[in-house]
Amino acid sequence: MIQIKTPAEIALMRRAGLVVGETLAILRDAVEPGISTADLDQIARKALADRDASSSFLGYHGFPATVCTSINGEIVHGIPSKKAVVRDGDVISIDFGAIVEGYHGDAAITVPVGTVAPQVLELLRVTEESLWHGMAAAHLGGRQIDISRGVEDYIRSQPHPTGGSWGIVEEYVGHGIGTEMHQDPQIHNYVGPRMPKGVEIVPGLALAVEPMVNLGGRHTRVLEDGWTVVTADGSVSAHFEHTFTVDADGPWVLTALDGGRERIAAISGVAASA
Ligand code: MG
Repeated sequence: MIQIKTPAEIALMRRAGLVVGETLAILRDAVEPGISTADLDQIARKALADRDASSSFLGYHGFPATVCTSINGEIVHGIPSKKAVVRDGDVISIDFGAIVEGYHGDAAITVPVGTVAPQVLELLRVTEESLWHGMAAAHLGGRQIDISRGVEDYIRSQPHPTGGSWGIVEEYVGHGIGTEMHQDPQIHNYVGPRMPKGVEIVPGLALAVEPMVNLGGRHTRVLEDGWTVVTADGSVSAHFEHTFTVDADGPWVLTALDGGRERIAAISGVAASA
């Protein structure tokens, strides 16, 4: 179901988005060598409670935590554990969702731990920037495929630091969001052959865009826990996500603390003069 929200409902989604943005900022600051992913889950639980919000993830299809924590070659859906401790040189992806008065926000960041290899930092930069280019490609009257193309074209335009090619994950996608975390439509991070243009971008549509990019090949597999998705070749992966909507002023990033208008405008300005 594609859910079109009223302005009042989008305002509630902004409140949920701010809880997500604030909590991810707290988690980013907390990441340091020696912290466990269970510690990060505890920090997220407290941030939710402090803000009278609830978790989008806890109990979702039985998921046991408020954050997904995925280290290095783990792409997405990792389960927090006392035994999963990050070390200098790692990267950790943290995916987090919050509910305010029935409306969801959903976002993810990948955070370097201590001193990280330059090619891995470049992976993080390209993945995050592709998310912003995808959102910047959305405009009222456009189609969802514009977002997919914006993400993929940016990634493909960036030289791979070791001369290979970026592995754009295809099995996991962005999504509509509203009174459920996962709604239609699905937002791919690439444009495949004969892929339909998809739904029209209209006011009140809210989407979570979430590129996952591997330093190596794009293929994935799921671990025995039934949740954790890893790169098939063991290469490092990055994941960035925001929830956004589009209004008369353009894209509005509901999970960005500043709403993202300036960053979007900077990208659109470059694109328009290119
Ligand atoms: Mg999501």
